[in-house]
Amino acid sequence: MNMKWFYRCPTCEATYDILPGRYLCDRCARRQMPERPLEGILEVEWEGDPAPGTIPLPVEAAWFPPIPVGRTPLWSPVRIRHEFHAPNLWIKDDTCNPSGSFKDRASFLVAAFAGKHGVKETVLASTGNAASSMAAVGAAAGLNIKVFLPAQAPLAKRIQILQYGAELIPVDGSYDKAFDLSLEYSDRSGSLSRNTAYNPLTIEGKKTVAYEIVDDLKEAGASTPDHVFVPVGDGVILAGAYRGFENLLRLGRIRKIPTLWACQAEGSSAIARALASAYSGAEAFCDPLPSSTVADSIAVDVPRNGVHALTKLRKHGGRAITVSDSEILAAQKTLASGSGLFAEPSSSTALAGWLKVRESIPVGETCVLLITGSGLKDVKAAALGLGLAC
Ligand SMILES: *Cc1c(COP(=O)(O)O)cnc(C)c1O
Repeated sequence: MNMKWFYRCPTCEATYDILPGRYLCDRCARRQMPERPLEGILEVEWEGDPAPGTIPLPVEAAWFPPIPVGRTPLWSPVRIRHEFHAPNLWIKDDTCNPSGSFKDRASFLVAAFAGKHGVKETVLASTGNAASSMAAVGAAAGLNIKVFLPAQAPLAKRIQILQYGAELIPVDGSYDKAFDLSLEYSDRSGSLSRNTAYNPLTIEGKKTVAYEIVDDLKEAGASTPDHVFVPVGDGVILAGAYRGFENLLRLGRIRKIPTLWACQAEGSSAIARALASAYSGAEAFCDPLPSSTVADSIAVDVPRNGVHALTKLRKHGGRAITVSDSEILAAQKTLASGSGLFAEPSSSTALAGWLKVRESIPVGETCVLLITGSGLKDVKAAALGLGLAC
């Protein structure tokens, strides 16, 4: 189909070609202040008519590496449904992605883009999953992957990265520090950055989940989703899911955007606090707190996609919920023992969040929990939930 693809700044409407080296909006990125979310985040836009029934993406299908990312199962956790009288509860199980997390959706598009443009090296900072994901997809694509990772990252994630053959640079400090170091490196070397939110394709790649949820619910004879519970750290999965639903609305494949619930740990809740505040833009994030939670994948001090995610939540009437570490670990056990799905603590915030608000949601409405990462990625945290030392 005759499609034209470009980046557009949602703030000032400037447009840019989708090319290596283009990350942020030149004009809006000038507002950037230290210790604040990224300014000038770009969105992928198109003109033209996508082929019916397909997921329109800005890189042609032939460039995607040979590894089965996405099309993860959507299923009904029957015993949890019974226990909580929730006949319309669904799980979107993204632990089934090749590296065990949702992040593969973004890595897949970034790797396709790198292939199309002859880019050889991709670099990123990560709390663990983005790096193990890029390393896995990069291995399938034959890319060199360099990752900056906090030295504290869970062992399983570090081992995955090394097994996939990526270069691991341990950072003595937080994810936020790793993020800055990786940007210095990509600026200097000209390598492609896959930093989450900074590279707009990381948001675009994640939109596929919305298409799959809508298609799979339809196939199952269920209605379009009314609520989707999303674990949130930087807010890229949240924004990516919104992007997918916005696309689907534009294409006439849904009639309304579902209520997205941003589920955060109490100890890492910048987006929830920003949504509750009277401020917008970077001002809503002017009070950063050091993060502290058992859910390492959603532990961020400054959510890189905070401003963009906040704008989307406000625009579409999204909600936020915070849950304590003990609620997260209890939800992890409830999910595993009640459905057979062993999820990371970060992912278990989706169930913990739903458990907290479920009584306010009419029983007939369709709720989808986005389960983003496998429990095997952080066995130590899971042991904590069982009261075991490990
Ligand atoms: C990265 C990640 C999240 C959070 O995604 P953000 O885009 O940072 O909000 C949630 N769960 C898992 C397993 C992740 O790896």
